Amino acid sequence: MKHVAADVEQLREQFRVFLRTKMYRNTQERFRVLERVAELDRHFTADELYVYMNTCGDKISRATVYSTLDLLTRCNILVKHRFQGDSATYELAARKPNHDHLICRDCGHMIEFQESALLALQDSIAERYGMRALRHSLQIFAQCRDQEHCTHRRHGEDSTTSDD
Ligand SMILES: [Zn+2]
Ligand SMILES: [Zn+2]
Repeated sequence: MKHVAADVEQLREQFRVFLRTKMYRNTQERFRVLERVAELDRHFTADELYVYMNTCGDKISRATVYSTLDLLTRCNILVKHRFQGDSATYELAARKPNHDHLICRDCGHMIEFQESALLALQDSIAERYGMRALRHSLQIFAQCRDQEHCTHRRHGEDSTTSDD
């Protein structure tokens, strides 16, 4: 967990510019959230981040975590996914560019994959309609074929897990 995929200083600058442009206050807490998110370097929910930050000794409210994640998503530092259940899953946009997600509908097991054919497809679809593709988001909902490995099965709960 120590390798940080993104250049934290660069992210800080991106966030600073966004906050200034949108006239939001440049609070220390907001930047603390950004640093912790960069440290995590995986998918996480707002509640997981809240628990992680408090375990790390950061005194931060749940409301601040939620509102900061919203700001970080709006300035494209984070990507927000809705896999299943009620809670959104976040990850750093710079963490692993151009990957998509395969999610078991039953147990929530999630696999990240890269498929170059999809990149070619996104480009040709955008081109067909006179546009230039920037990014795409694809979620494949599936079922584990091997039921024995579908062990995270829960009922009605959001049980999205990361494969790392
Ligand atoms: Zn991902
Ligand atoms: Zn499964």
